[in-house]
Amino acid sequence: MASVVIVGAGPAGTTLAYLLAQRGIEVTLVEAAANFERVFRGEGLMPGGLYALEQMGLFDLLDQIPCRQLHAWEFVVDDRTVLHVNEPTDLGRYRPTIIPQPAFLSAVVERAQAFPSFRFLHGTVQALTQEADRVQGVVVRQADQEIELEATLVMGADGRGSTVRRLANLPLQKLDYDADVLWLRLPVPLPDPSQRSVFYGFICGSESLGAYTSWDDSLKFAYLVPRGQSLDSKPIDWPTRLAEIAPDWIVDHIRTHAEALEAPIPLKVVFGRCPQWFQPGVLLIGDAAHPMAPIRAQGINLALRDVIVTANHLIPLLRTNATPEQFDQAMQRIQAERQPEIVRCQNLQSSEQQLATRLCQSSILRGLLTQLSPLVRPVIERGWLARQKHLRFGLKPVVLAVE
Ligand SMILES: Cc1cc2nc3c(=O)[nH]c(=O)nc-3n(C[C@H](O)[C@H](O)[C@H](O)COP(=O)(O)OP(=O)(O)OC[C@H]3O[C@@H](n4cnc5c(N)ncnc54)[C@H](O)[C@@H]3O)c2cc1C
Repeated sequence: MASVVIVGAGPAGTTLAYLLAQRGIEVTLVEAAANFERVFRGEGLMPGGLYALEQMGLFDLLDQIPCRQLHAWEFVVDDRTVLHVNEPTDLGRYRPTIIPQPAFLSAVVERAQAFPSFRFLHGTVQALTQEADRVQGVVVRQADQEIELEATLVMGADGRGSTVRRLANLPLQKLDYDADVLWLRLPVPLPDPSQRSVFYGFICGSESLGAYTSWDDSLKFAYLVPRGQSLDSKPIDWPTRLAEIAPDWIVDHIRTHAEALEAPIPLKVVFGRCPQWFQPGVLLIGDAAHPMAPIRAQGINLALRDVIVTANHLIPLLRTNATPEQFDQAMQRIQAERQPEIVRCQNLQSSEQQLATRLCQSSILRGLLTQLSPLVRPVIERGWLARQKHLRFGLKPVVLAVE
């Protein structure tokens, strides 16, 4: 009987495991982290990702965990608002939503555990096993032992630093991206409830900061660290540093609750894609195949959409004991179907990052933008909305086609 080992229980790995198990396919999901809380995980889901969850029959999980819808985006350059756009109200339940990813992943795994063909294993995949040039399984390291798992297919869903990618000799082509991120959390809600559903971007001088209210009402900050600068959380007076970038209304809040501000978590951004996602017997999906930048919260959505396309192509073959060649051809088709959307999205992420960098580096550009902002703001907002359209639902609909 065909069986699948999925390496990594992020959004891609858990949801694919669920879809396979639901259809009676033997699947083992292997996760290195001892619990979902211990790794930083993105929180923003876009309409395309929400639609993917609906296709998978997992949308109702969001009713069981605390979530917050995002209603608008606002960007402030040198204390002048240069853009404020509302998300269309007709998106309804598909409005961008902030979710607690650990709770979501736990809920998916719990649901998958209802199916007898599902197995969840804590451990770190350290090697692939091979026979006649074809991957046939993995070696999992647990605290005191190694376990060998055989599989018809191995799925590398192990994120941006993918071990499966390295072991399968699938090179990652890195794309230019010139910032890493420090995450900070202030566990005190903004006083004005209307500000809690807005994502803010602040650029002041050469520094930039993202800020939004998370699912638990805490205020989260993403402080962008230009590449080359240290990501270490040096002893910086963070309330003062944030106050230098953010406008007065938020500065008052940060200063009032300065003692509650938590120490930053450094996160290295990996951004790029593999020219080839597969080798005989093994396929990469999600960040393992195309690590995404945090800009406009795209990575989870694309990972979920990869899963649907993967399920469409592989489930019929897994059910019918297809030949190795049929699996290999299907993997090619999966990459071909997903690639245009990934490229498009990464190009948009890249160009937005470059624009932010140019603004940070050029006081002339910032001066022009803020001076002309009353005139050019409608144009900037229209441009933003046009780009946001593709980022909301992707290039074309992705629909689960297997029963
Ligand atoms: C700073 C930052 C902020 C982001 N914010 C957002 C956001 O708000 N919204 C959004 O959509 N995207 C965001 N992204 C991108 C998003 O996090 C990823 O695109 C998304 O998590 C990809 O999902 P995945 O399932 O492919 O991989 P991951 O979520 O990375 O999951 C991979 C899993 O594999 C496990 N693993 C790794 N190696 C092994 C191994 N050898 N054996 C077993 N298990 C292993 C890991 O522990 C992990 O659980 C952000 C990225 C960054 C860097």
